Amino acid sequence: MPRPQLIGVPYDASSSFLRGAAAAPPLIRAAIHSAAGNSFTERGADLSHLADTGDLAIAEDAATARAQIQDAVERALAAGFGPIVLGGDHSITYPIMRAIATRHRALTILHVDAHGDLYDAFEGDRCSHACPFARIMEEQLCGRLVQVGIRTLTPHQRDQITRFGVETIEMQQFAAGARPSTRGPIYVSIDLDGLDPAFAPGVSHREPGGLSVRDVISMIHTLPGPIVGADIVECNPSQDLGGMTASVAAKLAREIAGAMLLQP
Ligand code: MN
Ligand code: MN
Repeated sequence: MPRPQLIGVPYDASSSFLRGAAAAPPLIRAAIHSAAGNSFTERGADLSHLADTGDLAIAEDAATARAQIQDAVERALAAGFGPIVLGGDHSITYPIMRAIATRHRALTILHVDAHGDLYDAFEGDRCSHACPFARIMEEQLCGRLVQVGIRTLTPHQRDQITRFGVETIEMQQFAAGARPSTRGPIYVSIDLDGLDPAFAPGVSHREPGGLSVRDVISMIHTLPGPIVGADIVECNPSQDLGGMTASVAAKLAREIAGAMLLQP
């Protein structure tokens, strides 16, 4: 099984509303290694030797940035790592998945978000952070897309869910007890606005009524796996309160890394 490797992607030029997520990777990394905690995950994995490429030197131009992100993830995979990408805005998941799909063709994506991110185009941009999963489904970069925490669907996005066969557990269904069921290799994409703003206020699009930190950790812990890669995106330090959201992003990155290390 791949060993986890952090990759920072300081890119937010495809955000539709607020910039700021590009500043997140170093803050999340600092929270991962904070002296306030120790190097062990809840399930006992030791992260004291967690691999880390540092932050990519990323272009402002979106097409160039996508090529750089895809290339960085391809290199991590070729070196035998399971990338854990620290964003950045959610547009980065599309080039990440182009790299992942070359090695894991029919995997399941577990996508945590307040938003479906399935727009065909948003404000004229087909590679906006509102669109990555439309591109991923068009290019068949995964076998299944399972979404959790969604609470902002428009009629267009509901049409896209039907068109692409997306398995969406809306937040109201999650609250009523619905949980994702997955098998086999999995990629985890966590948009921090999927959590309730009470837990993660430092995001560009606050949407109350979301998941708790524990809800997301429990999903990570119960995935049958193996987890082959992950991203944690949309932490916006300019909106954060006392670094709370960077701490949550770090906690989730740590538990994902631990799950990867504990995979048989
Ligand atoms: Mn979102
Ligand atoms: Mn998103």
